[in-house]
Amino acid sequence: MKDSLQRSGVPCQAAKWSLEMSKILIVEDSVANMKLAVFILQSAGHTVLCAADAETGLMMARENQPDLILMDIQLPGMDGLEATMQLKSGELTRDIPVIALTALAMKGDEERIRAAGCDGYIAKPLRYKEFLAVIATQVVAL
Ligand code: MN
Repeated sequence: MKDSLQRSGVPCQAAKWSLEMSKILIVEDSVANMKLAVFILQSAGHTVLCAADAETGLMMARENQPDLILMDIQLPGMDGLEATMQLKSGELTRDIPVIALTALAMKGDEERIRAAGCDGYIAKPLRYKEFLAVIATQVVAL
């Protein structure tokens, strides 16, 4: 297999660029990745909420009802897959779309990410346009 693996689970060509302002929760333990994601999303006009671990993220999701959650997979303590499963089985949070942020890119990893209930994924390192394009596919319908 050559370079056929998509970097992200949502095709960028399908993205609509008329971004609506949304409330987006980022669960990410890497300070550098968090800063970059916050910068990109705020530049696009979104309101951003931040959590550095899954437990905090779950609590913030319930309390703040974000329009979208970006979930790092590798987190200290509870990982992003377990956190997503809890979000998707929680009455208050099951309808919130979750996009995984992952350095993993193997075929089996995508299946694990989907199986946990994620609605899409974005490969790290984050790329500005691709990142916003994937976000746009999730928020335009809101
Ligand atoms: Mn991480």
